[in-house]
Amino acid sequence: MFTIGSHLSINKGFENIGLEALSIDANTFQFFPRSPRGGKAKELDLDDISKFEEIMDNSSIDVILAHAPYVINLASKSEKTRQNAYELFEDDLKRLSYLPNNMYNFHPGSHVGQGADKGIEFISNSLNNLITDDLKTTILLETMAGKGTEIGRTFDELQCIIDRVNMDEKIGVCLDTCHVYDAGYDIVNDLDGVLDEFDDVIGLDRLKAIHLNDSMYGLNSHKDRHEKIGEGKIGLDAISDIINHEKLKKLPFFLETPNDVEGYKEEIKLLRGLYED
Ligand code: FE
Ligand code: FE
Ligand code: ZN
Repeated sequence: MFTIGSHLSINKGFENIGLEALSIDANTFQFFPRSPRGGKAKELDLDDISKFEEIMDNSSIDVILAHAPYVINLASKSEKTRQNAYELFEDDLKRLSYLPNNMYNFHPGSHVGQGADKGIEFISNSLNNLITDDLKTTILLETMAGKGTEIGRTFDELQCIIDRVNMDEKIGVCLDTCHVYDAGYDIVNDLDGVLDEFDDVIGLDRLKAIHLNDSMYGLNSHKDRHEKIGEGKIGLDAISDIINHEKLKKLPFFLETPNDVEGYKEEIKLLRGLYED
């Protein structure tokens, strides 16, 4: 089964986001549990969540993905920034514990000049405190484009974090096609080679989700500018190969392309047409 969805707004509640996903022929979705700029989250409405659970039970929606706020930087030089990131992260995980089958994707962080090693140490220390025995949510490290001092531009950096996490069975990776291409992994001409490298360095069993985006700039650009499917430097042929690759096709795919809901509906239709069952 092809599991495909897009980023959607949670502003109208979980029941509505579930209905909206189904209305665009999606069977998963990604959402921000709070504003991407951080701040206080809305109080959880358990009645709304139970209505959403019913939707999930009666549809092919099986897993959903939350995206951490962009302001979270567990790798910061500033203790205050790290502390703030930790508190938001912890609060998000607590809220996600009320939701059915979910994963939580975050940007590993930026080391802001102190060096990747130091940043990696900060991130893994935080994860070791955040990951508890009773955690049901799988935490995903997102592959990054390598803008500025972003950590996670190479598979090695991600594995360095994972290596330092004690309860690593709760950790996975979300591969963003725009980001890895911008970071220099040529998924257009050598998808097999890139996946082999991922397998050697991290292990494909860690790969839990794909952010499916085209890229406005392209290989090695380190820009992180998403483009609509088929309209960027990755292109429709490569994207078709990605969703149909033996090692990827059973994963959930999430669109983060510059679109409104109607645009996502069109892209999902296009991709469903390209997917080989
Ligand atoms: Fe992201
Ligand atoms: Fe992404
Ligand atoms: Zn991005």
